[in-house]
Amino acid sequence: MLGCIENYGREIEWPSLMVRCHRTGRALHTGIETDPITYSVLPDIVTYSRCPHCGYEHAWRKSEAWLAESEQLYKRRHTVSTD
Ligand SMILES: [Zn+2]
Repeated sequence: MLGCIENYGREIEWPSLMVRCHRTGRALHTGIETDPITYSVLPDIVTYSRCPHCGYEHAWRKSEAWLAESEQLYKRRHTVSTD
């Protein structure tokens, strides 16, 4: 039964928290994955993430970050008009 619970947990893919690299302007994964509900109650504190684009560590706040899933929806909404 414990195996079932573990498998169940691993099957869920949460959206990744993304921030913008100030040096390259590219989006980077913070390494944090969370669901939108948990994200909404996270405190707006400074967090550090290693940037794969420029190699520096970036300090970022929750207010600068977005969920990867949200950006996909954002892009879809702004690049393709289905209405
Ligand atoms: Zn960077």
